[in-house]
Amino acid sequence: MAGFARPRVVLTDIEGTTSSISFVKDVLFPYARERLPAFVAAHGTRPEVRSLLADAAREGGIAGAEDAAIVALLQRWIDEDRKATPLKALQGMVWFDGYDGRHFVAHMYPDATAALRRWHAAGIPVYVYSSGSVPAQKLYFGHTQDGDLLPLLSDYFDTTTGPKREAASYRRILDAIGTPGREVLFLSDIDAELDAAAEAGLATAWVRRDGTPAPHARHRAITSFDELGF
Ligand SMILES: [Mg+2]
Repeated sequence: MAGFARPRVVLTDIEGTTSSISFVKDVLFPYARERLPAFVAAHGTRPEVRSLLADAAREGGIAGAEDAAIVALLQRWIDEDRKATPLKALQGMVWFDGYDGRHFVAHMYPDATAALRRWHAAGIPVYVYSSGSVPAQKLYFGHTQDGDLLPLLSDYFDTTTGPKREAASYRRILDAIGTPGREVLFLSDIDAELDAAAEAGLATAWVRRDGTPAPHARHRAITSFDELGF
């Protein structure tokens, strides 16, 4: 199969794309779920934590509830993998302790790390767009099994830019990075995200880590970054 045309810029998802879904599901989420009550007890009076708890309570329809009820709500959202911005921000704060204490290191597929290094050397800027908060993304790439990969990345976008399944979010990212969509290649494992990116004019590659055939041909599929050919 012919490789992809070399883009001027790469925009990549994390979970299911550069990294395994199971690391997030089986390590990060349970860690946040377990540590959240103690984190809120210890840091619940910090203004930024207070305001995130209030945002979560409002979004969950329990404005003014006690911390225990808000923590229970957040734990339910973790179980549901809900992409709520205040939850993502609080999770990032809890994960900081986990990375800092070396309770775990972030997973990378070897071909993804190799590609980040190759693209950096070739002068292709790489941006990240993930539903995890920007601080959580930086923690992630700063503490991987392959070491600190932050020097290989140009910038980070999360759901404060907009939902990943809406074309407007990708248009905002193009504005922010100052590059036309046709010169940006977006990598993701979720076709609805790729649809939105394509609608905004980006090139797309559908990362299918489990190797199963794509159910439709709207996006070119790859199982490894090696197949991109640049
Ligand atoms: Mg993904």
